[in-house]
Parts: sequence; C-alpha cells; structure tokens
Amino acid sequence: MTVHDVIGIGFGPANLALAIALEEQQIGLDVRFLDARAEPAWQPGMLLSGSDIQNHPSRDLVSLRNPRSRYSFLNYLFENGRLLEHLNLPAEFPLRKEYARYITWAARHFDHVVDYGRRAADVRVVEHDGETLYSVTAQTGEAYLGRSLIAAPGRTPYLPAPFQTADSRRIFHLTDYLFRLEELTADGAPESVAVIGGSQSAAELTLDLAHRFPGTRVRNLVRSFSLRLKDTSPFSELGYFPEFTEYYHQVTPEARRRLDTYMHATNYSSVDGDVLKELYLLIYEQRLDGDQKVFVDGNIQATAAREENGEAVLELREVNTGAVETDSFDLVVVATGFRDLGPREDQELWPAMLAGVAHRFRTEETGALHVNGDYSLEARGEYADSPPLFLNGLCESSHGIGDAGSFSLLSLRAQTLLDGVLKRTGTAPAAV
Ligand SMILES: Cc1cc2nc3c(=O)[nH]c(=O)nc-3n(C[C@H](O)[C@H](O)[C@H](O)COP(=O)(O)OP(=O)(O)OC[C@H]3O[C@@H](n4cnc5c(N)ncnc54)[C@H](O)[C@@H]3O)c2cc1C
Repeated sequence: MTVHDVIGIGFGPANLALAIALEEQQIGLDVRFLDARAEPAWQPGMLLSGSDIQNHPSRDLVSLRNPRSRYSFLNYLFENGRLLEHLNLPAEFPLRKEYARYITWAARHFDHVVDYGRRAADVRVVEHDGETLYSVTAQTGEAYLGRSLIAAPGRTPYLPAPFQTADSRRIFHLTDYLFRLEELTADGAPESVAVIGGSQSAAELTLDLAHRFPGTRVRNLVRSFSLRLKDTSPFSELGYFPEFTEYYHQVTPEARRRLDTYMHATNYSSVDGDVLKELYLLIYEQRLDGDQKVFVDGNIQATAAREENGEAVLELREVNTGAVETDSFDLVVVATGFRDLGPREDQELWPAMLAGVAHRFRTEETGALHVNGDYSLEARGEYADSPPLFLNGLCESSHGIGDAGSFSLLSLRAQTLLDGVLKRTGTAPAAV
C-alpha cells in the first residue's frame, strides 16, 4: 500500500487553498485528498439565483498569500474571457454561482491528487512497516495510509433538537435545499414552506421561495425578535485579520467568549442590508395588494416537528407569551447554521469521523479538542507517537471569527498549515 506523506480529508476551498500553496512552493510531499462528492462543487445546494458572496472577491483561494498566483479569482475571469465584462457589473460582490465556478475551475487543476466519491468514515492510528501512521477508511471501503492528516470536511450542519430527530425528507438543512426542492416539488409548487432561523441564508431562502413559487405561503420563523442587520463596520471587520486570529488564540476562554459576543453579528443571526430591504419591500407590497404570502414571524420557537399525512407538522411556541400553535408545511428548511468545536448543544467536541483518534489528543476543560496556533492537535503524553493531525476550517472556537468556515483568511491559513506540516513532519521546504 502507498504511504502518503499527507492525507487531506475534504477538498473544499480549505484544502484546495492548501493544495495550491503546496504546488506553488514546489513542496515535494506525496499528498492525497479524498472528497465525499462525486466532483468538485462549492455549496451546490445553495446556489440561489441572484445571491452574492459574502467576502471580498480577492479574499479568494490565494491572493492574500500570493497576489501573483494564477489561481486568483481575477485570473479565473481572465482565463475564461470574462474579466472586463465582470468588472463592468453593477454589483458590489460577485454572484455565488460565478464564485462556485471559480472554485471548480481551480479544483480541476488538482484532479491528479484527489479521489472524489470517497467519504472518509473512519480514522485510526496503525503500525505499518515500523511506522506509526493514520489509516483512513472511506465509506466505499478503500483504505489510505498517511504520515500526517489534514481534516477539512467543512463544519457539520446544525439542526436544533426537534428537527434533528424528525424522520422526514420534508424537513432538511439548508445544505440540501436545491436537491430536496427538485425531489419534492417535481409535481408542482408547494402550498406552504417554513424557513427556520434568522441567518443570512434564512432570509435568502425566504426570498428565493417567494420568487420561485409566488403563490406559496412562506413563513420565516425566527426565535429572536426579528431579522437583524449584519454588522459590516470596517472596524468590526478587523476580526477577519490575521492579527485578530493570533490575539484570539492567546487569550483566556472567558475573553474569547467576550470577543465572540462582539463578533457574532458580523457573521451570524444577521442579514445583509440589501437582502433585508428587498424582503421587507416584498412583504409590504403583498400587504398593499391584500395578498400577503410571505411572513417573517419573530419570537417563535419550534418545540416539535414530525411528518403526518404527507405534511411536516410543527408545534410552535411564542417565546415571550408562551402561546402555542400548530402549523403544517409541505417543506421545512432549517437554516440554523453549523456546529463549531465545543461542548454546547449546538457544537460538537470533534467531527464524527475523528472519533477513533480523538482520545489521543489534549482537550480543553470543556472537553473540546485543543488546537495549536498552527492548527495542529497536541498529542497527550501517553500517545506522544501520534502522527501530526491538523484541522483546517473548523477552528472558530480556538482561532476566532476569521476561522468561521469563511474565505476571509483561507489563503493565509493555508500557509500557516503548510509551515506546520513541514515542521511537524520534519520536511524541509524545497528551494523555489
Ligand atoms: C450557503 C452558504 C454560503 C456561503 N457563502 C460564503 C461566502 O459568500 N463567503 C465566505 O467567505 N464563506 C461563505 N460560506 C462559508 C463556507 O463554509 C466557506 O466559504 C467554505 O466553503 C469553507 O470551505 P471548507 O473547505 O472549509 O468547507 P466546505 O466548503 O464545506 O468543503 C468541505 C469539503 O469536504 C468534503 N467532506 C466532508 N466530509 C467529508 C468526509 N468525511 N470525507 C471526505 N470528504 C468530506 C465535502 O464534500 C466538501 O467538498 C458559505 C456557506 C454556506 C453554507
């Protein structure tokens, strides 16, 4: 069996940025990436018409690390003959669809080091020919051996309690949106749909449903008062700078929680101004016409969810008055985000696929994995022989908001990780 220097689990933007850094710095490591998808794709279930990206387009796979890289978004536009046309767009941010094509274009250059259609199901430490290695087994049965591991599976979708256990294809996380729509609305428009959550995605989904199915009743159910404006202050955006990442990593857990509270509205439970305005205006006009189809209902929490007679039935509670109601929908889209590393109900101590090796590594008092500055995990004394293991794209709780699974610092993080891999595997960087 081939022993790879590095096995990368997941080939989304995080590990793709790393693969590019490896290529550009001509580092002669034998690296093999596995990805669960059949082909490269970026958030394919949420490529909504008209939706734009949330990051400056030059905070792409490479530019902060290497502005001369051929894998920049600008060069993608150039090589595909759309640079001038794109620069002439009357839009602040590129369409999400176009950015997804950029990611796929970049990923296709690395087909020779990626095995698609391989979901890593189990990770173990094994002895092999006198070496201590990671053995990664894919759901399809193939096994891979590596001297180090970089886990970049993206964050795990989070569904709050009543939705987690609801055994219904009509109730699903936003990452499945377009796929479930195709499956469940083939015979015609749904009569009613609920969108759960007060996030950017929730507001985008509500608008998308309103445009896609003008006759459908769409209820956006928000637990807090209503939809809040995203904090886009350039001062708050300093949280997406590498200096903040370093600062955050050094301070105490209490200080981190304080910073989290401040940063929350820059990324969570908040919506861009243009989307809020469009949604508010749409509802106003429907009311003016005496035909309201779209509702944003705040202070509502779902307490139970089930499928009954081909419908998704929700028990709803007004969080301040305690009033209860039951409502039925053809579809329920749960837009309540993703899990970070941590002990809370909406977090996870580690990604499930690392269950077989997590006990080898130091944890915080909370029980969540301790992550070093270079994104490596720290082996416990009795497991000091553990090969290096890195987390890529999962480290908001240790590295702050810039690591909230976004593009913001992806390219710089690739360099930090790469330096960490070279140091911890004892590999010298090649002279470029
Ligand atoms: C709807 C939506 C819109 C977003 N828009 C933006 C935006 O505009 N700007 C921004 O900065 N961020 C945005 N984000 C955040 C987004 O998470 C990042 O942009 C980016 O996708 C993170 O890259 P990643 O590689 O860490 O994770 P992902 O993109 O999730 O990629 C993870 C990859 O790992 C694979 N994988 C998962 N588990 C396994 C396994 N067990 N074995 C093998 N492969 C596996 C998956 O198939 C996937 O290809 C958005 C997120 C969502 C959900």
